[in-house]
Amino acid sequence: MPAGMTDPTDPDRNCALCPRLHAFIAAQRELHPEWHNAPVETFCPEDGPASVRLLIVGLAPGLRGANRTGRPFTGDFAGDLLYGTLSRFGFSRGSFAARPDDGVELVETAITNAVRCVPPENKPVGAEINTCRRFLSASIGAMPNLRAILTLGKIAHDSTVRALGERVSAHPFRHAGRTQAGGLEVFSSYHCSRYNTNTGRLTEDMFTNVFKDIANFLNEPAPVAVSPSRA
Ligand code: SF4
Repeated sequence: MPAGMTDPTDPDRNCALCPRLHAFIAAQRELHPEWHNAPVETFCPEDGPASVRLLIVGLAPGLRGANRTGRPFTGDFAGDLLYGTLSRFGFSRGSFAARPDDGVELVETAITNAVRCVPPENKPVGAEINTCRRFLSASIGAMPNLRAILTLGKIAHDSTVRALGERVSAHPFRHAGRTQAGGLEVFSSYHCSRYNTNTGRLTEDMFTNVFKDIANFLNEPAPVAVSPSRA
């Protein structure tokens, strides 16, 4: 379990709403009984979901990353860039050591995935993305002070836009994109996967610039009026 508080809207450990993913996890439990091998809960700050102003939405747990360790973006390459960047911008405290007991604490920030169970070859199918959206929606709904979401990759972005009740065609994914949906500011970036960084699709500078935009936005005073969709 992550060091911070977990989100009460997380799925049951044995959630079987997606039969293919449930079976894949069952096989992993046989192969690696010491691994987490279950839906990965949202990683929240110690002060709980009500303290969250920034939510980061990834795709799904990596087989040997979050599926092994039980904490989002922990245990494989993607976490090195994400947690390093969070720390530099003050969105986390402590030294990331790719273990759920490394003591990292998030600051007014939470991290989750569009699909909570590890998919084979990192590829969830449409039905799985749609089915798991209920947990993403519930997590967002449990964060009354949320102001911004960062989506990592197109699948996370599109599912987040739908979770906010808006049409994807009105909010297309693009790297360094920024849009308003459901009363929230939605930023988007290419996923910080090893593949994307190795191929140069996403550089550290590109990722840093996205977080500069987010930090600048969160440093602006919050509007007094609350959007009807978040009221
Ligand atoms: S992906 Fe989500 S909805 Fe599907 S089985 Fe896992 S937790 Fe349940």
